[in-house]
Amino acid sequence: MEKKQFQAESKRLLEMMINSIYTQKEIFLRELISNASDAIDKMYYRALTDDKLVFDKDNYYIKIIADKENRTLTIRDTGIGMTQDELESHLGVIAKSGSLAFKKENEVKEGHTIIGQFGVGFYSAFMVADVVTVISRAVDSDQAYKWESTGADGYTIEPAEKDLVGTDIILKIKENTEEETYDEYLDEYRLKAIIKKYSDFIRYPIKMDVTTS
Ligand code: ADP
Ligand code: MG
Repeated sequence: MEKKQFQAESKRLLEMMINSIYTQKEIFLRELISNASDAIDKMYYRALTDDKLVFDKDNYYIKIIADKENRTLTIRDTGIGMTQDELESHLGVIAKSGSLAFKKENEVKEGHTIIGQFGVGFYSAFMVADVVTVISRAVDSDQAYKWESTGADGYTIEPAEKDLVGTDIILKIKENTEEETYDEYLDEYRLKAIIKKYSDFIRYPIKMDVTTS
């Protein structure tokens, strides 16, 4: 499989991000939850103009799944998902905000809550993860795709399996080092505290699932 390179500017920005922009690593969760919430909001907008789509609130949620044994943290949403092209254009180019474009195209409607605008939030995941895997199935699509990256050295995209429309962001949490611990990002109580601190205002339910073995 061909490995694609991030654009040069993106590469530099990514290194900067990982090393300095965010002093607090914990905010990666805020960024990924706000992206999940934006994705559900986009479904909501879609339903306003698409008769075939009914926005039943019970079907829309965000789920945080911590798997200590495999050292993965998954942020799942049942939002609008991304096509293969969108995975490429939204996650392959850093500092290009799909959400800012969406807001411009759709003007500000009532109940508008889309948070994203800078197009860098997603990459904060690399502060705590050494591999980030995105499995996404877009609304109206039967085929899912997997985007995967270990950071500055590029990313791959390939077809994947996914039953539900929406997106799973799977973080392979870094091993502890002498200076930094990362185990805390797999701990239920620590995760709950981070969610309470930064994501209390999110208007979709945030569920949690922790497995230890
Ligand atoms: P921003 O949120 O400021 O637009 P991000 O770096 O956080 O920038 O995300 C980049 C883009 O990737 C988003 O604008 C969106 O189009 C897409 N994206 C990220 N996460 C998701 C998700 N969970 N579901 C659908 N699209 C997403
Ligand atoms: Mg964002």
